[in-house]
Amino acid sequence: MKAYSIAGLLGLCAVGAAAPGVTLQHVRGGVYLAVDTFYVQENSVVYVGPKHVTVVGATWTPETAKLLVSEIRKVTSKPVGEVIVPDYHADRSGGSPYFRSIGAKVVSRRQTVELLRERWAEHMKELQKAYVGYPAIPLTLPDIVHEGDFELQGGKVRAIYTGPAHTPDGVFVFFPEERILYGNCILKERLGNLDSADVAEYPKTLEKLKAKKLGYTTIIAGHFTPLHGPDLVEKFLQMLEAHGRPGQ
Ligand SMILES: [Zn+2]
Repeated sequence: MKAYSIAGLLGLCAVGAAAPGVTLQHVRGGVYLAVDTFYVQENSVVYVGPKHVTVVGATWTPETAKLLVSEIRKVTSKPVGEVIVPDYHADRSGGSPYFRSIGAKVVSRRQTVELLRERWAEHMKELQKAYVGYPAIPLTLPDIVHEGDFELQGGKVRAIYTGPAHTPDGVFVFFPEERILYGNCILKERLGNLDSADVAEYPKTLEKLKAKKLGYTTIIAGHFTPLHGPDLVEKFLQMLEAHGRPGQ
């Protein structure tokens, strides 16, 4: 009876609980989608440029960053030159120490640097409460700090800030040649966690993004299902509106 139970349990583990991991998939041109299924699934982007690689989103931890770099090694031998930290939350910044350890520069806007400095210690405590085994990651401040929007890879990677949303500081990253927008934690198929969000500004921030008429045909969402059409912006605006309606 006991043996039967153990066998049942093993069977269940094999079918029901796939081990978390990091995968990399080509989307278009230089853009690859990274899916990190540790903790809460997060989606990041890898851009393979003419001479070096730019990673957008440092992934959850130094361990997941290391797994991502081993996936990058399967598609290119070019060095990882930099990692953009697109907001201060750990799903975007936790892997920074690993990227720095392999010689990549950590890049962000000034506002993200300030929020990392102000909120990191508290943010780590929250994560360690929320996820068993989440490591204590030291505060890693970016090496290259931009005052406003910035471009990398000779304009092939553009970080764009249009206002507070999921966090006060989150940027979108646009790849003009591939016509792909990385939506970061701001754009996804569900509202997700709004604890650090500015729900009054969020729709205005999305309207400002729309007003830029960037011409993307694909949006990579930062969580849940990764690949969407440009209508994800409208869908998110509708979810925000429903959320704000009385009685919701
Ligand atoms: Zn997130």
